[in-house]
Amino acid sequence: MKQSIGIDGPAGAGKSTVAKRIAQALGIPYLDTGAMYRATAVAAKKHGIGFTDEERLSEFVRTLDVRVQYLGSEQHMLVDGEDVTGQLRTEEISQGASLVSRVPAVRDRMVELQREVAHAQRVVMDGRDICTNVLPDTPYKFFVAASAEERANRRYKQLLEAGQEADYDTILKDIVRRDKQDSERAYKPLYCGADTKRIDTTHMTIEEATQAILSEV
Ligand code: C5P
Repeated sequence: MKQSIGIDGPAGAGKSTVAKRIAQALGIPYLDTGAMYRATAVAAKKHGIGFTDEERLSEFVRTLDVRVQYLGSEQHMLVDGEDVTGQLRTEEISQGASLVSRVPAVRDRMVELQREVAHAQRVVMDGRDICTNVLPDTPYKFFVAASAEERANRRYKQLLEAGQEADYDTILKDIVRRDKQDSERAYKPLYCGADTKRIDTTHMTIEEATQAILSEV
């Protein structure tokens, strides 16, 4: 069996863009695992469950039907049959995903689903704990990083280009808060393992970062 490729890193480091390009170059699917935590946050909100209510979230996620569906190469998230893909990319859901992902029962359920996908086929998967927890046995492990300021700057430009309002300081504050939550949580935090190749994209183009990984796989 060909081994899957794991890419971890903090929010906004460019890992999903890089992961998509690698998947395309290798002709294999890309799995955005952050979207699964985001979909869980959307579902919790819909059911009136607080993002920090560990007890109710643990119970809720046991029966939650979270599915990944591909329409062409585009990943859609279905929760209890409803396509919630269009609801995943708000600031509230970014923070919500970061909070619900601290709950061990939520993480265990998502990891189970992620491993099922990787078991069925070779994939490129990005997230926070792919190399350290989901696919610890793959030889292809990468940690894509960039300074918080550079990540905030990229997000700021992206929003402006999309014709949306953006405030650099608010974006930076949100990124720093999410970094802290993700890397300091008690259960399966974000970190770069000793056997993982770290790629700092602060002064790199997407193409350079993509090539750096492709040359290894
Ligand atoms: O990657 P993305 O920003 O969409 O992820 C949203 C949130 O989901 C992250 O801030 C993180 O808390 C959580 N997450 C995680 N483990 C993953 C992927 C995402 O904890 N493998």
